[in-house]
Amino acid sequence: MTARHADLAALRESETARMLAACSQCGACVEACPMVPYVPALQDADRPAVVRGVLEVLTGGEGDAASRAWIASCTRTGSCNAACPEAVNPQLMIRLATWRASETGLLPQRDTSIVMSRVKVFARLGFTEDEQRDWL
Ligand code: SF4
Repeated sequence: MTARHADLAALRESETARMLAACSQCGACVEACPMVPYVPALQDADRPAVVRGVLEVLTGGEGDAASRAWIASCTRTGSCNAACPEAVNPQLMIRLATWRASETGLLPQRDTSIVMSRVKVFARLGFTEDEQRDWL
């Protein structure tokens, strides 16, 4: 492990610990999330329970269906950050939970070949024939 990776791992662990200690599980972040009306599993979900599930995922657990749905549906609006009374940074909490869930297999790993094919499709819109031949 490089020094940079060690720093990142330490930062991740310290941020996770800070969030676990600071979050009062009030659910205000879920309430403020603009995605909730569009995600069936979240619409009637108990807000504090959703957060409890996310904190569980953050520590390697499975959470419940609603918390996993919230993690998967985050579009990074940051509305949750403004609503949080404890300065937890719930947007980052979701990012870290997504990271952990990818490691534990809770969320499927991204297929990078699909991502790259999409990048190429968009790139073709702006590249000349020669550029496409040389770069894609
Ligand atoms: S992250 Fe903030 S808003 Fe969300 S449950 Fe915890 S304390 Fe409440």
